[in-house]
Amino acid sequence: MALTGTSIKLVDPRDLLEMLRHHPLTAPFSLALYSEQHGRKGLLETIHTVCSPMAGDNLCTQACYRGWEESVSQALLANQPVVHACTQGFLCFVIPLPESKNLPDCLIGGGVFERDTTISRVIEDTERSTSDVLTIESAQRPQLISRSEAETVAEEIFRALPRLFDQQVHTLSLTRTTQRLEAVQKLTRELTDCEESEQAVAVVREALVVLFNLPKVLIVLQQPGHSMTVHSTLGLDPETFQLNQKHLAEYFAKSSGHPEVLSGEKLTAFLPGLETRSAYLFPLGDHDRQLGAIAILDVDLHSRDQALIELLINCLATRLENLKTAEGHQLERQFSSRLVTMISALALVDNRQELYQQILEMSAELLTATSGSLMLLNETNGTLKIEAAKGMTSSLAKTMSVPFGEGIAGRVAKSGFPMLVNDIERDKRVAAKNRPRFKTKSFLSLPLEVEDRLIGVLNLADKKSGTNFTEADLNLIQSFTNHAVLMIDRAATLEKAGMFEKLAITDPLTGLYNRRFLEDRLQEEFSRSERQQQSFCIILADLDSFKIYNDICGHLAGDNALRKTADLLHRSAREMDVVTRYGGEEFCLILPGTTKKESLFVGERIRRAIEHESFPGESHLPLGRLTISIGVATFPTDGVTANELIHAADLALYSAKGQGRNRLVLYEPSMEGQALLSHQE
Ligand code: GH3
Ligand code: MG
Ligand code: MG
Repeated sequence: MALTGTSIKLVDPRDLLEMLRHHPLTAPFSLALYSEQHGRKGLLETIHTVCSPMAGDNLCTQACYRGWEESVSQALLANQPVVHACTQGFLCFVIPLPESKNLPDCLIGGGVFERDTTISRVIEDTERSTSDVLTIESAQRPQLISRSEAETVAEEIFRALPRLFDQQVHTLSLTRTTQRLEAVQKLTRELTDCEESEQAVAVVREALVVLFNLPKVLIVLQQPGHSMTVHSTLGLDPETFQLNQKHLAEYFAKSSGHPEVLSGEKLTAFLPGLETRSAYLFPLGDHDRQLGAIAILDVDLHSRDQALIELLINCLATRLENLKTAEGHQLERQFSSRLVTMISALALVDNRQELYQQILEMSAELLTATSGSLMLLNETNGTLKIEAAKGMTSSLAKTMSVPFGEGIAGRVAKSGFPMLVNDIERDKRVAAKNRPRFKTKSFLSLPLEVEDRLIGVLNLADKKSGTNFTEADLNLIQSFTNHAVLMIDRAATLEKAGMFEKLAITDPLTGLYNRRFLEDRLQEEFSRSERQQQSFCIILADLDSFKIYNDICGHLAGDNALRKTADLLHRSAREMDVVTRYGGEEFCLILPGTTKKESLFVGERIRRAIEHESFPGESHLPLGRLTISIGVATFPTDGVTANELIHAADLALYSAKGQGRNRLVLYEPSMEGQALLSHQE
C-alpha cells in the first residue's frame, strides 16, 4: 500500500514507537528513533537509551558505537534494514523510516541476546491477524532470538511500515490528538478556576509530565521583588546548572510570544552547566508582561503537541497575569486600610518625641525595614538631628547630627531627591564601605518636605527579607510620609506657639475624634478614593429624643449615655472606620473603601447595638428605649465634596427621624425636594 503524505504528517514519531513496542515482532527489542541531524552525540544518547535497560550505564564502548554508526550509514544509504551484533553480544537492528520532514531517519532496536530459537510462529500469527497486535503484551515475547530471526524481524517491520502507518499509527495518532485536545480543554478550564499562582503552575507542570510524557522540564518564574528564578524542575537537578539572566532578558526583549528552539552554544550559554541537547523555550507572557518561561528539554516535539503545549502555557500566562493583578489590588487595598489606621493613630499622639518614634516605626513596618532613623532639620544651625532611631541605641543616635549637604542624609536633604541604593559599596552616588552596623547593602533615604520646605530626612535600611528596597517601596513610603510630614509640621508649629494641647483632635467627653479631625480626614479620603477610584460612605447618627432623656435623667446621665454610645460605635465599626463626635449627640463615621451596600451592615450593626444596650431611665422615652437614627451617603454618587456628602447624609438622617426614628435611611436624590417642601410647610 502506498504511503500517503498526509498520514505521515499526522504521525507523532512517539506514537509510532509506542505502537512498535507493542508489536509482537519488535516487542522483545528496546527501541528508539534516531535522526542524523542530531549527530554523534545524538546517536550516543539514542544507543544509550536502547542498551542501558539491559546492560547498565557502562556498556557502550567505542567499538560498540562504531558498529552502530556503520549500521546506520549502511541502512540509510541502501534504504534497507541492517542487523548487527554488538561487542556485548546483543543483536541490534537499524530500520530506515519513510522519508518525511516529520519523521526521524531510522528506527533502531537492540537489547536482545542472540540465541537459536524460532519466532516464525509469531510472524505467521501476525500475518493472520494484524488487528490485535496492539493488545499483545511484550512480556509474552521471547527475549533471546537468533540472528536470522532478527533479520526477519527487521525485514518484516521494514516491509510492514507503510501498512502500519496507514492502519495503525495513523489511527493511534488521531486518537491521541483527540484525547489530548480534550484533556487540554479540561485543563484550561481548571486553570481558570485556580485561585493561586502556585496551583496554576502545578496544573501545567503535571500536564506536561502526565499528558505529554516529557522527560525534562524547567520552569522559570518572575518572583515578586526578584529577577527571574528557577521555580521548579522535572528530571533535572537544579544544583547542576545556572540560569543566565542576561540571555533571558535578551530573549524576552526579542520574544514574539511564540516558542523558540535552542541548541548548541546558544543553549549552553542560556543554561550554563546543564548537559542538554535541545530545548523548546516557551515564554510565559511577552516582552510587555514577562512572567517567566518554560523550557522543555531533549525531546523532539510533534507539531501537534507543540501547539497544544503552547496553548496550555498561554493559558497559564493569562491566569498568572490575572492573579497578579488581583493580588496587586488586594495588597493595595490592604495597604490603604493600614495607612488609614496608621494616620488616624498618629493624629492621637500628643507628644512630639512619641510622634517621631511612631512615624519611624510605622514607616519601618510598611517596608519591613529593621533599622532606620528619622532626622529633622535644625534651621538655626543647619544640621540634621536624629530624633528617632530604630535598630540602634537611641541615646547614642540622638547625640549624632549631620551637617546639611554632607553624608548621605545631608545630601538627600540638600538635593530634595530620595535615594534608593541597592549596593552601598557599588553605587557611584555613595561609594561608601558598608558600615558594620547595617546587615544589607541596600537602603532608602528620602527627604521630608512640607510644601517644598525641607523639614527632615527619613532613612530606612535592612529589609527583614534581606532583599533590596524597590521603586514600589519608595512609592509606598512616600504616600505615608506625605501625611506624616503634616503631623510633624503641625506638632512643631503648635509647640512653638506653646499650644500643643490644641493639637488635641479628640473629644474629651467621649475620647472619639472631634469634628476638626473629621474634616481633615474627609479631605484625605476624597483625594485617596478619587485616585483609587473607590467609593466610601459616611454615616451620620443622632440619638433619638436625647433632649427628653436629659430632661428626665439629668445631664450627668446624659453624659454617661454619650460615653456608652461612643463605646458602642467604636465596637460596632471596623478597624479602618473613623468614628467621630460630630457635635452634641450626633456622630459621624467615615467608612473608607466601602460601598453603599456594605455600609448597611455597619450602620445596622450600630443601630441594633444602641437599641439593645440598656441605658438607665430609658423606659420613659417615647420609644421605650434609647435609640439612634442613621443617615448614610456615599462618595461619589451622593456627593463629591465634604459639604455635599454631609448634606446628603443629613437629609437621609432627617428622613429617618421623619419616618419614626430608630432606623437607617440611605440618601436618595428625591429627598432634596421633600426636605424643601417640609421646610416650607
Ligand atoms: P431627635 O430625636 O430629633 O434627635 O431629638 P433630640 O431631642 O435628640 O434632638 P435635639 O437636637 O432637640 O436635642 C439634642 C439634645 O442633646 C440637647 C442637649 O440637651 C443634648 N446634648 C447635646 N450635647 C450634650 C452633652 O454633651 N451632654 C449631655 N448630657 N447632653 C447633650
Ligand atoms: Mg441632634
Ligand atoms: Mg437627637
